[in-house]
Amino acid sequence: MDPEEIQRVTGIPVVSLAIGDAVDPARNAAAKAIFEREVVRAQGPERAQMATFLATIYDQEGDAASALRLLEQACQDSPAELRHPAMLGHAQVRLNAGDTAGALIEFDELLAYVDAQPDYLRDLKLPALCAEMLRKCDPERALLWVESGLRLLLRMGGDLNDARELYHHYRAVVAACAGKRVDQKLVAQVDWFLNEITAEADSDPIGRAVLGYFPPAVFDIPEDREIAEAVGFTDADSQRIAIERCYRMQISPGITKYIASIDTSGLRAYARRNDMDPCSGAVVKLYAAQLVRDNRAIRWPPERNASCWCGSGTKYKKCCGAPHLLDPEETALREFQIRTGEGWRYS
Ligand SMILES: [Zn+2]
Repeated sequence: MDPEEIQRVTGIPVVSLAIGDAVDPARNAAAKAIFEREVVRAQGPERAQMATFLATIYDQEGDAASALRLLEQACQDSPAELRHPAMLGHAQVRLNAGDTAGALIEFDELLAYVDAQPDYLRDLKLPALCAEMLRKCDPERALLWVESGLRLLLRMGGDLNDARELYHHYRAVVAACAGKRVDQKLVAQVDWFLNEITAEADSDPIGRAVLGYFPPAVFDIPEDREIAEAVGFTDADSQRIAIERCYRMQISPGITKYIASIDTSGLRAYARRNDMDPCSGAVVKLYAAQLVRDNRAIRWPPERNASCWCGSGTKYKKCCGAPHLLDPEETALREFQIRTGEGWRYS
């Protein structure tokens, strides 16, 4: 594979080729030739990526059968944990071809797949597709599907702003099902759930939470260490695990979560300016909020392959994002909270 050639012809860098990106139709013929060649030449995940892209082009050209055949190949070529782009492609192609029922079946399979994954699959561009499906399908059928859709959003660290379109369609579906021959308990549940999300968003107009994090170096300097200890952290490692667990256990749709790395000199200056004690949890929180406003905090969770928020230099998925950081009881509790809708209040 020649990444430069692919970028020149498709206009998209190979590293950022992703499902949902479409090749400019004017370039389709040239791009198609490259992808046709690479599908034969490449192997494994690379071939899956090329097949997915070729499928996107066939889809744009209205050849759903060829697109689906290629996506099937992409599924087979992908390692188990990387099948979702091709599965999502299946649903999208069927939807584009007007086969809404088929798309919903594909989508149900995707939801089951995501549910079975031990780790986060946050990079899925699902909300927009969910919204499109809800718009097109029978409201009664959609309602049955709403719950799993919402669960998925939560799992993705659902952001109300990102999901706003989806949210409005859920509302419309609930309204359309009022008084119909549908399980009214489910309607009530979904309605309640949506109200909770709204209340959550309204109660915090900024819609964000922040935790301060003392980088490991802080613990090496006695006068800095004193601040971290006063706030309750005695070493970098237990602090890192506490923060990660805290965020993973809080299911707060609509709340964007941040981690602010606390520089102790900045904290001291901030406390001095405001005539406050730097060795106070409340002041650390205020300073952390200031760091968010100054765009000096990072969003949690980071991308799976991005550097970990803790500053280890390791990828998030292999560091604080590793699934085993929660013990089995905590994982079970979190699953329970997601299922029942309990426990998402941010405190
Ligand atoms: Zn880490």
